Amino acid sequence: MEINTVGVVGAGVMGVGVAQNLAQAEFRVLLIDLTEEILARARQQIKENLRLHTLLKKSGAQSRPGAVIDRITFSADCRILEEADFLIENVVERWDVKRDLYQRIDSVCPGRTIFAANTSAIPITRIASATKRPAKVLGIHFMNPVPLKRSVEVIRGYHTSEETIEAARGLLARMEKECILVNDSPGFVSNRVLMLTINEAIFLVSERVATPAEVDRIFKECFGHKMGPLETADLIGLDTILLSLEVLYESFSDSKYRPCPLLKQMVDAGLYGRKSGAGFYPYRAVGS
Ligand code: NAD
Repeated sequence: MEINTVGVVGAGVMGVGVAQNLAQAEFRVLLIDLTEEILARARQQIKENLRLHTLLKKSGAQSRPGAVIDRITFSADCRILEEADFLIENVVERWDVKRDLYQRIDSVCPGRTIFAANTSAIPITRIASATKRPAKVLGIHFMNPVPLKRSVEVIRGYHTSEETIEAARGLLARMEKECILVNDSPGFVSNRVLMLTINEAIFLVSERVATPAEVDRIFKECFGHKMGPLETADLIGLDTILLSLEVLYESFSDSKYRPCPLLKQMVDAGLYGRKSGAGFYPYRAVGS
């Protein structure tokens, strides 16, 4: 299947990275979000990332930043998705929001368009049930920051066809990414393990067993991980961590996924991590 135009819905932390990586791979990209203000911020973020890539000579730096940006159409009107051959959805991790969106795009996009959900935990089979094309729906769980990560978790839903998996493999190969294919389950492999680890690390902080820096140092200095669980949580976004734990808690009806009260309090306080300027650690907020 030939893929030229890719729709990217949601221009937050993940959508920005996905759109940039696709444009660097010379796809035409339609980037959709709710408001012009969010889209302007996304454009600025991509510009900044491309400038850094050029400085650091990372992959994609061979393409002029201006040429990469020119391949992206920024729009708040999802009707332009009727031109998409393939679509990657990155909206907030809430089933009610995703369900309404999939119903809408199912009516806008032609029958040939494949839908890839970049969700953290919501089962792909449930997402596919909101459409009339379940064979053309799969999960592509990208890692953050998208352009720098070489592998993705690809999820086969109950009805996902082999043609759909092969089309996704082809698109990801052009993005220079390897696929690790798994079957559908809430949280898949990555987040069933990672979300529990992060949640338990937050419990340790709230019980004053250790500070965030001490927890992270144990993972980095003793286990050789590149980042500790709380630095990872700040990178993902504490709001997204909380929503993902709630999906796991509801999906398995298992108390081991109950979110730590400190996590809930931090989200209520607007401490989302890197994207808001503070989480377990202080940062410079995006766009500031
Ligand atoms: P985010 O909050 O940074 O961005 C979500 C974006 O979706 C926002 O810009 C919001 O305005 C937009 N949005 C909401 N409803 C919309 C709609 N109906 N139409 C268009 N846009 C809409 O969140 P994020 O971290 O980018 O996460 C997006 C998805 O990717 C979530 O499902 C999340 O679980 C998943 N994910 C996140 C990470 C991560 O590290 N943050 C990694 C893998 C997957």
